[in-house]
Amino acid sequence: MAQAKSAGALVDPAFESSVVAKLRSVLGDSSAMTPLHAPEFSGNEWELVKDCLDSGWVSSVGTYVDRFEREIAALSGAEFGIAVVNGTAALHVALIVAGVQPDDEVIVPTLTFVATANAVRHAGAVPHFVDSSPETLGMDPAALAQHLSTIAERKDGRVINRDTGRPIAAVVPMHTFGHPVDMDPLLALADEWRLPVVEDATESLGSHYKGRPCGGLGAVGTLSFNGNKILTTGGGGAIVTNDPEIARRAKHLTTTAKTPHRWAFLHDEVAYNYRMPNINAALGCAQLSQLGERIARKRHLARQYIEAFDGIDGISAFREPSYARSNYWLNTLLLDTIMIDHRDPLLAALNDANLMCRPVWTLMHRLEMFADCPRAPLKVAENLESRIINVPSSAALGTSGEGVTA
Ligand SMILES: *Cc1c(COP(=O)(O)O)cnc(C)c1O
Repeated sequence: MAQAKSAGALVDPAFESSVVAKLRSVLGDSSAMTPLHAPEFSGNEWELVKDCLDSGWVSSVGTYVDRFEREIAALSGAEFGIAVVNGTAALHVALIVAGVQPDDEVIVPTLTFVATANAVRHAGAVPHFVDSSPETLGMDPAALAQHLSTIAERKDGRVINRDTGRPIAAVVPMHTFGHPVDMDPLLALADEWRLPVVEDATESLGSHYKGRPCGGLGAVGTLSFNGNKILTTGGGGAIVTNDPEIARRAKHLTTTAKTPHRWAFLHDEVAYNYRMPNINAALGCAQLSQLGERIARKRHLARQYIEAFDGIDGISAFREPSYARSNYWLNTLLLDTIMIDHRDPLLAALNDANLMCRPVWTLMHRLEMFADCPRAPLKVAENLESRIINVPSSAALGTSGEGVTA
């Protein structure tokens, strides 16, 4: 029998074929490419976008922006919402309004999409990479506690990284693929160090942590409505918060810091043009009414994957943490550690079979521009990086049947 040899381990191609067959048992047979995550427009999108065109209110002021901001805040368990052009811009401004200054350090998971670390650099600060938990795929509060106690000290009202001498100014947990980070111990730890928590909830709209919606759990949260997210406005994002002062400042900074006047153009600081256009917000309003039903279908699809891979040697479908109700934005297969040599052959076999599957992002500390950034030990993230495969996850692949159960 033909066997590929890689990194000293024998890779049996029968394993790849059996995983492809399992995915086909869930997704059915189709000769067309099954995308990783397709956008869906099954509400009144045409009607609301047409209303923008008919009324001429297409740009950065309009009733859909106001309505979208109210609805997105409510969904996130927050009092205020500020709609912006994308999730990266939301993170950039969220960091500034949380108090991050140039040359500060910001605690970020190394296992995240590049936008999280980019936004820290956009704010002039330095990402400081920390490890993830195998239970949540997100920031590990216990590992972070250990790391801070090793490298940080409180001095003159700030947290200082003793190794670099720079202040640490914020903690940015990210709810990977929609699965909530264990927020209670993380919030307690951040409170102990008096660090603001900026929640990167760009993947977790509609996910709940112990019954509380993601986004509104920290000082300020961020959302994305890019085309590949659970809801889309074409491109878009939002900042959500319960703090009226943070909300006021975020709105001001994202709208060129214009001070109100009947006609004069007065701006009181250098700011950004990050406001979401009304035409995108109209799309968003139409999408929001589909969220609940979409999550139900995604949870049903997740259940099917979990059942299909139950009892299969060497690989399993990732299940939400016990405290969570996840939106299952992206479904994840996890190879057992002894099977990591199968990751690339498996990705090849799945994509050859027209199933669009992807590895997790290259860890941030491995990217050239972030290679010199400070970091904690990153053993778990490095292990996860070699084991994660994301599989087709569009809500349209599920039905509204029974979803994942504990
Ligand atoms: C999608 C995403 C963002 C924001 O992306 P935009 O494309 O700028 O809307 C930020 N962080 C993570 C983890 C994401 O997945």
